Amino acid sequence: MPLYQYQCYACGLQFEAIAVANEARKSKKCTSCGELAKRRVTSTSFAFTKQVKGPTPTNTGVSAIDHDFDRVIAEDAKEKWGLIVQRQNRKRELLANNPGVTGHDLQKTAEGDYRVMSKKERHHVEVQRETFKDLGGVGGKPQE
Ligand SMILES: [Zn+2]
Repeated sequence: MPLYQYQCYACGLQFEAIAVANEARKSKKCTSCGELAKRRVTSTSFAFTKQVKGPTPTNTGVSAIDHDFDRVIAEDAKEKWGLIVQRQNRKRELLANNPGVTGHDLQKTAEGDYRVMSKKERHHVEVQRETFKDLGGVGGKPQE
């Protein structure tokens, strides 16, 4: 029996269900909210390239599609996490090599690296932060 795709307009869920061909036109009960979901008429010949650009796609409820999205998202997350770990290590290294320096003394460079600010620069950042607070900013977001 073929698989059909259904779209629930009550909760937005898309799901697949097996149906006899002559019953496929009928609405199916949504597996999430129980409302009647309409069959989606879609092309089955969509192909995925590895890269997904733009905003993260929402859960489609269609397992075959989600599998591909999940894989791409996982690869992307792995890459980003690697960068975060790299930055953390770089910060730790800087702090270890510069006694007396704290995270507040570090400044992110345009290249995505970190460097230790001089006392003068540090003071400048502090003044900016205070000014930001005075202008009604919340807390004064520390520079990364
Ligand atoms: Zn629903």
